[in-house]
Amino acid sequence: MRAEGMAGDQIRGSGVARGFGIRDGHGIVFVSNTGEICPAGFLPLSAGNVRTHRLAQVYREAPLFASLHDSSSFQGRCGFCEYHALCGGSRARAFSATGNPLETDPLCLYQPAATARSTPASDG
Ligand code: SF4
Repeated sequence: MRAEGMAGDQIRGSGVARGFGIRDGHGIVFVSNTGEICPAGFLPLSAGNVRTHRLAQVYREAPLFASLHDSSSFQGRCGFCEYHALCGGSRARAFSATGNPLETDPLCLYQPAATARSTPASDG
């Protein structure tokens, strides 16, 4: 969209923009058969249990979810990628490969410039 000359406002106003930034723990929450509240089915880190915690409160306030909501907390390549807010990679793959859900998505082939770190949909 940017390559086609669309400005940030136009990108944000497009229908496809509603899907931007949705990823494990941000727009997605998983409750296991035992009630554990996890960022996704493939990201088995529990931030609480629905038997003892309010689901919405865990999703909004638990430190694990708070870090996943905030793409500026991402590390590695996803941490300095200019698409961190729009994409953010798979937090489940990052956890599977490194044990850290904030790390680089190991299957992404994109190589951001080391100095990148703007949000394409928020500028222009
Ligand atoms: S490095 Fe890849 S997976 Fe990570 S935010 Fe950038 S484009 Fe997405």
